[in-house]
Formats: sequence, structure tokens, C-alpha cells
Amino acid sequence: MIQADVAEERNEILKRYRRLLRQAKPILKSGDTKLIKKAFTISLEAHKDMRRKSGEPYIYHPLEVALICVEEIGLGTTSIISALLHDVVEDTDLELEDIERDFGYKVMTIIDGLTKISGVFEYGSSQQAENFRKMLLTLSDDVRVILIKLADRLNNMRTLGSMPRNKQLKIASETMYLYAPLAHRLGLYAIKSELEDLFLKYTDTESYQDIVHKINESKSYRNKFIKSFIQPVEDELIRQGFKFTIKGRPKSVYSIFNKMKTQGIPFEEVFDLFAVRIILDSELENEKADCWQAYSIVTDFYRPNPNRLRDWISTPRSNGYESLHTTVMSTTGQWVEVQIRTGRMNDIAERGYAAHWKYKEKDTSGRSGPGLDEWINQVRSMLESNDGSAIEFMDDFRGNLFNDEVFVFTPKGDLKVLPTGASALDFAFEIHTMVGAKCIGAKVNQRLVPISYKLKNGDQVEILTSSKQKPTEDWLHQVVTSRAKAKIKDALREEKKSAILDGREIVQRKLKSMKLDFSSEVIEQLRAFFDLKTANEFYYRVGRGIIDPTSIKSFKDFKEQQKQKSKTTEKVKDESSFTKEIKNLKGPEHDQLLIGEDMDIVDYNLAKCCNPIPGDEVFGFVTINEGIKIHRTTCPNAVELLSNHGNRVIKARWTSQREIAFLAGLRILGTDRVGMINDLTKVISNELKVNMRSITVDSDGGIFEGTIKLYVNNTEHLDQLIKNLNQIEGVIKVSRFD
Ligand code: MN
Repeated sequence: MIQADVAEERNEILKRYRRLLRQAKPILKSGDTKLIKKAFTISLEAHKDMRRKSGEPYIYHPLEVALICVEEIGLGTTSIISALLHDVVEDTDLELEDIERDFGYKVMTIIDGLTKISGVFEYGSSQQAENFRKMLLTLSDDVRVILIKLADRLNNMRTLGSMPRNKQLKIASETMYLYAPLAHRLGLYAIKSELEDLFLKYTDTESYQDIVHKINESKSYRNKFIKSFIQPVEDELIRQGFKFTIKGRPKSVYSIFNKMKTQGIPFEEVFDLFAVRIILDSELENEKADCWQAYSIVTDFYRPNPNRLRDWISTPRSNGYESLHTTVMSTTGQWVEVQIRTGRMNDIAERGYAAHWKYKEKDTSGRSGPGLDEWINQVRSMLESNDGSAIEFMDDFRGNLFNDEVFVFTPKGDLKVLPTGASALDFAFEIHTMVGAKCIGAKVNQRLVPISYKLKNGDQVEILTSSKQKPTEDWLHQVVTSRAKAKIKDALREEKKSAILDGREIVQRKLKSMKLDFSSEVIEQLRAFFDLKTANEFYYRVGRGIIDPTSIKSFKDFKEQQKQKSKTTEKVKDESSFTKEIKNLKGPEHDQLLIGEDMDIVDYNLAKCCNPIPGDEVFGFVTINEGIKIHRTTCPNAVELLSNHGNRVIKARWTSQREIAFLAGLRILGTDRVGMINDLTKVISNELKVNMRSITVDSDGGIFEGTIKLYVNNTEHLDQLIKNLNQIEGVIKVSRFD
């Protein structure tokens, strides 16, 4: 039985190996096959007793990674060998010297680089950031290290299904945090969108499946539509003697998901679900003219949207991407994005960096932009000049992956470069921490603007300060640079610290005047009385005046009552029964959640950023000051938390549904009519016995828009409510918000 399996596995391994050779064949030079075979044999032998989490032979992994390098990135023999051996030094007895002896210096350095950055995320957060920095340093040595690492990550994401849940979340999040932006920056669009799709699949399975299902459902309709859309264009291209391929393809699941989310619309309303791509077979010197000719043909049949023309042929993007994009109106009234490019441009678009350089070598005109070179140089100088914390650096770097920059000037004319979206406040912190902390506004080009003003290229900025100014929580939303964020957080922490000290003093005085001991027992009782998580939280509130010191008196009264009571009935023995007593008086507060490996019930907070309710998929996050916080896996902060601080993530799951209310928000859109609000509130309060906390309504030009905050028991309950609300006359759409 086992024998048969082994034989079958051997066959499968050989099959996969031959597939790799077949794919690589066009690029192999004499002697290459022998080297690849040698690498394969060594890897096979080295991993022979190892298996993947899925139970499959380990060798499948290096084979697949090598295949991705060839097929999807377009790399050559050196990379194939390195990919086959990428886990060998780390996992087995084989040494780097052995590799160098058998395959030479280059392969050895690549594998060394890959070994150093593997397990990058297994350690504490700063360690991980430091390792990531190292990884990027190798970028300028040999970019193949990064490309093979991306292939490695892609294969791991494709096989993520067999990993335990918390690993899935962690790996998927780092992928989204680092690898997808990196793939984007290196121009590997196909890999980037696959990584994003897989991220969605494992973090928000329901939405993912839903979109996939809907894409499939609309397939035959879409195919018909595309066929009739491209027909006239195709005919005319042929008539004018073009050689080309033309096809329509749906956009990635993740990009559709993103549209639905950012625009708050259902799948059916995402208008550009797919793009039509025309790939011309064109000589290098005719490329530009041919593409514009094709553009002219397309727009002869369909009216273009003037705001949606993107010419990345005259000015390629900095990662080398070249293409002409336009969005046109079809005869059925649907917008369709049309992408026009040549075979060469398509190759670069799909396989990124490697293809880019392949062509660049051939192109003696030097027309391809030097963007990537420049970027790598920038990364290098950033790495060398980095003297801040590694985490901060990583944020900066990530910012640089996507963001373009905005160039602004100081009053004296010094140039400052900030990421796009930076505010006047960012600028202030860029000048100096104290300038930032005291900033009350700015003068931009002699005009007065608030601290939230978004900087534009060429702005000349003068910061206005006041000694009375102090950073607030709100400021964190007004800045984009990691520097400003860190400084504001520092200031807030300081502020909190001094408030705690103040509070402690006040409490001490007050207790003394009431003739109570300033003991940990009394403080613990006070904490419980005011229903706070920690003693510091209690001090803080007193210090900031949120808790009036005189109300400590009511605590004394309460304590005396308890004493009276304990004389007649049972005694309140210890702190925990005291706490319980208070809970009984105040009623239950939280639902139960099972947390950690043992699925214990421990104390936790629900994160304010995503307001999880029972039924949501959640995870726990160990915060520094506030215990365990529960977030939804779809929380906007989840990616950052899971990827940067994976070691502080613990799994969490709701207990069976309990009848406890949770706060949720609904947005209702409809046509306005008399009695609308009445009907809404009727459904909410009468029919379902839900508690409404607040309702706000806007009515403009016959359109009704309402937001309702209410307490519900669980997601099922909420879904039911949404369904009922949808049935009210005039209601067009009901959606949930966080
Ligand atoms: Mn690997």
C-alpha cells in the first residue's frame, strides 16, 4: 500500500520536473540542463524525508517555485537552480560552500540572500523589520533574490489552505502588507493581483466566494457582451492590416471587492467589471503610432470618457509599465475599459522587471525609462541613511512603494519631499518635532489653511504655531507620514503619563480626607466601582477630570452599604466577589468570547475601529496597555497588526450565540416620502425589538439618506433586520458600516 504511494509520488515528482524543463527549454544554453538536473537531484535528496503541511512531498515546493520563476517572471537558469535549492541550506546539512563548489559564486550568493531573509517574520516585530531591511539591501546586489522570494511566497499563498487558521491570517497579512506592494513596484501585475485575491480568500472568505460566484454567474452574459463589443473594432483592425489579439477579461476579485467597499456599492453596480485588451504585433519603431491608431479605431465606434485616458506609452510608469488605457461607452450604456499595448509592452506588464531589462538590453535607443534604476538607488540611500527605528523605516519604505511624492518649499525656499496626501501638519513635523506639536495652521502661498490642508506640488508652506497648542488623538488622522504619526503618539503617551500621575495624587488626597487607606485593595475596589480595566485607567480619568473626584465619595457610601448588607446577609469576602456584586448591580456588559489555544474565556475589549459583533470572524490582539483587543479579520487595521506584530495575535472565536446586544451601524438610502422615518423606526423597534441608539437623517432633492446605530444580537439578527428594512416602500439600499 505504502509502496504503491511512493512509486506514484516518484512519478508525479518526475512529471513536475519534466514540466519545468519543458517550460525552461527556450532559454536554456548548452550545459544548463545538466546543472538544473544536478540542482534538482541535490534538492530531492536533501528534502527526501520532509513533507509539506498538506502531506505532499516537500520537493513539490522548490519545483513549483522554480516553475513560477520561469513561467510567470521569466527568469533564467541561475534563478531556476537557486529556486530549486532555496530551502536546502536552511533545512538540511548542506553548506553554502557545497553550493559554491557545485554551482559557482553567483548561485551561492543568491541562496545566501534567500536563506537570510527566510523566516524574516518569525521573530519579534523589530527583528522582522530589520530583516526586511536586509532583504531590501540585497535588492541592489541581485534583484533575483527578491524575485525568487516573491515566487516562494506565491507558492506558499497558493497552498495556504493546509495551514492552521492563525498562520493563514498571519501569512496572508504579511503578503498584503509587503509582498503585494513589492510585486506592484517591480511591475509584476499578475502576481500582485493573485496575491491580493488570495489574501481576500483567506481573510474574508465569504466576500471572496460571493464575488467569485457572481463573476461565474454572469460569465455567459459577459462573453456575449464582449463579443459584440469587440466585433466592429476587430473588423476594422483587420481591414487596416493589423496583426493583433483582442480579449476581454474580468478584473481581479480583489479589485472588484475594493470598488464595492470604497464606493459602498453591491457587485451589480460595479460598472467596469472587466477590461478589453488589444495586444498589437508591432515593430519597435512603430509601437507608439500603432497604439494611437488602434485608439483612434476604438473611439470611432465608442465614445471615450475624456477623464479616463491614461497614456503610459509616452511616459511609462516608473516600474516600466507601458500601455494606453481608455474607458469608452458601449452601445448598451456600459462603460468598458480598453487597454491598448504591443506584445513587448504586454510582456513587461505581466512579467515586470525581468522582461523590462530583457528588452532594455536590446533597445539601443535607450527609450525605456530609467525609473527602476533610480528607484533602487533611492532605496539604497534610504537604507544607508536610516537611523530611526526599523519599523518606521519599513513604513516609510512601504509608503514609497505606492506613493508618488509631492514637492513643497519652506519660506526660505528649501525643498521638502513628502508622500502624496501629506498635510500641512506632516510638513510641520518634517521641519521639527516642536514645530509640529505646536502647529495651529499654516500659510500656503500666503493663504491661511488648516492643519489638515493637503499639500500640492510647488506649495510654499509657512507653519503657524502657538505655545498653547497640544497634539490630540484626532491629529493621527490628519497626517500620513510615519514620522509625524510616531511623534504625535509620543506626545499623547507623555500626556497620558502625566495625567495618570496627577490622578494618582488627587486620589491619594481624596482618600486621605475620607479616612480611607491608599492601598491596592481600595484602589482595586475603586477600579471595579468605576468599571474600568486598569488602575491606571482610573487615575487617568481622574487626572483628566473625566471622573470627578467628589464622586469617589459615592464609592465610600456604596462601600458602607455593602458593609451593612454583609452584616445581615452573606459577607462580601474578597475583591472578586466585590467586582461581581458591582457587575450584578450594573448588569452584564460583554458577551463571551473564546480566546487563545485553549479557547479560554478571558478578559478582552472590542476594538473601536471595527466593532465586532457575535458571528463575525475575529482575532485577538495583545495590546501593550489595554489587554486583549478583539478585531474583525476584515478590520482596516488587521493587515498592519497581523503582519507587523504576528507574535501578539491570538485566535478568538465567539461562544454560542447569546442574547446580548452589540452596536452596529446601518446606512439606508431611498427616495423620501412622508412617513418614511416612522416606518423605519417601526420596523426597528416594534417588529424586531431592537434597541436603537441613534438615528440621523438627511433628505436632499427627494433622496433620503439615514444612518442608524442600533444594538443587535448577532450577524444573523442584523441580516434579518436589513432584509426587513429593504422591504419598506421607497428604500433602495441598506448597508452596514463600521
Ligand atoms: Mn520556500
